[in-house]
Amino acid sequence: MSELTFSIVKPDAVERNLVGAVLAMIEAAGLTIKATKMIRMTKEQAEGFYAVHKARPFYNDLVAYMISGPVVVSVLEGDNAIARYRDLMGATNPAQAAEGTIRKKYGKNIEANACHGSDGPDTAKTEVSFFFSQLELVN
Ligand code: UDP
Ligand code: MG
Repeated sequence: MSELTFSIVKPDAVERNLVGAVLAMIEAAGLTIKATKMIRMTKEQAEGFYAVHKARPFYNDLVAYMISGPVVVSVLEGDNAIARYRDLMGATNPAQAAEGTIRKKYGKNIEANACHGSDGPDTAKTEVSFFFSQLELVN
């Protein structure tokens, strides 16, 4: 069944001119870009987006990193898109990510790991609507 998932090309990858390379891997994997835009998150947006991790020791650093430069947020569409994009990203820590994954290829470390992808149907829905209006998704 076709579903939507939410993706971020994170600041470390944008800074290294890897936006096109990451989006190309997404498209080559058969996922369709339904909407995309470059933004610079405010501290409040980043805190809200990662609120689930508020109690984690890495939370403050993560928020600082996510607002350190622009990011490219996208909505991806495809059969089983959520799980397929998680597979394509690879493990959170690039050092443990499998060959052929985005994080293996482009991630720098466990924090600056090049990309974000929703981890389930509920988060996908919340994350898409956090950054995109319904109008932006009509295509
Ligand atoms: N992160 C970090 N240190 C950690 C674990 C995670 O800096 O020990 C960062 C990393 O950028 C990761 C994000 O926090 O992508 C969210 O963590 P999560 O466990 O949700 O990993 P993901 O779903 O992105 O693989
Ligand atoms: Mg996660």
